[in-house]
Amino acid sequence: MTEQIAEMKPETAGVASTKPEAPLIDLMGGDLRRQIDVHDHGFVALCDVMPRLVPEGQTADMAIVQAARVSYGQGTKKISEDRGLIRYLLRHRHTTPFEMVEFKFHCAMPIFVARQWIRHRTANVNEYSGRYSVMPDRFYRPTTENVHRQSTSNRQGGEESIGAGTAGDFLEYLAKAEALYAEYERLHEDGVSREQARIGLPQSIYTEWYWKCDLHNILRFLSLRLDAHAQAEIRDYAQAMWDLIAPIVPVTVEAFRDYEMESMRLTRLEIEAIRAGGAEIDSTNKREQAEWQAKREQLGMDGARA
Ligand SMILES: Cc1cc2nc3c(=O)[nH]c(=O)nc-3n(C[C@H](O)[C@H](O)[C@H](O)COP(=O)(O)OP(=O)(O)OC[C@H]3O[C@@H](n4cnc5c(N)ncnc54)[C@H](O)[C@@H]3O)c2cc1C
Repeated sequence: MTEQIAEMKPETAGVASTKPEAPLIDLMGGDLRRQIDVHDHGFVALCDVMPRLVPEGQTADMAIVQAARVSYGQGTKKISEDRGLIRYLLRHRHTTPFEMVEFKFHCAMPIFVARQWIRHRTANVNEYSGRYSVMPDRFYRPTTENVHRQSTSNRQGGEESIGAGTAGDFLEYLAKAEALYAEYERLHEDGVSREQARIGLPQSIYTEWYWKCDLHNILRFLSLRLDAHAQAEIRDYAQAMWDLIAPIVPVTVEAFRDYEMESMRLTRLEIEAIRAGGAEIDSTNKREQAEWQAKREQLGMDGARA
């Protein structure tokens, strides 16, 4: 069998192969994985990327350009520069070429973060099984300054640090939940199945998974989970993912910052307010008004609060 493989050559009869003009380089520099630690026990590790081997001087952005050119054909002569083409595609939401790049990650995160993450349905996921294996004794605890007060403006969110006293009470509450792990172990030793013993463990316990996704859907994940409205903990994971992919698809990441992350959408009412030179929008909805004021501040418009 080994000999058979050794004898196999890429150029077999009837197969046409193309050699790159420049030598191929590994976009992961020969690394098996590149890991960024998150919090106390979490991590995001990049394990693979497609394309991984590209001609020297190129990045995985080339796969986007390659796919786009098949659909635009002669038309791309007008947008001949690769960077310009990628920026055009992103601006005009021509998304399928971005699906030609894929990333595979190994990640460890607390279950409450995993519950938010798994909502992104277009990824391929394989998760640690608490039925098959014993849950590891690892729990997430925020630092004292990262215990947040309930936001008054956003029911889903937290705001500034709550202060050491109440934060201490909160951390004690987490410690009590973690102490249930000893009960979990004892009950499992007494014969309770792993699949049932685990159900009393808190959401702060860690799970892990392999997560593979194409670039188009990763960008969507990142735009939602790096946003200030996302929970701080999942934002930390999204930031690690962003940092890992940025050197591999630098042109796309730059365009995504320009046209999505650091851009702004204006509603019809907001456009009308700008045209009329007014500070107010024609709406009595308080949330809409507040969002408009936030945009005015971001734009540095006259009279907007700094
Ligand atoms: C700040 C924030 C708060 C949230 N709060 C809540 C909450 O309170 N409750 C809650 O349940 N969820 C909540 N979510 C989750 C949210 O509703 C989405 O489920 C999640 O963000 C995934 O988005 P998505 O469906 O676009 O992503 P993906 O599942 O990755 O899908 C990507 C895109 O693929 C397409 N797609 C995927 N599957 C289908 C399908 N079956 N049919 C049609 N099109 C499909 C859609 O275009 C979709 O936008 C929250 C998310 C955020 C970011």
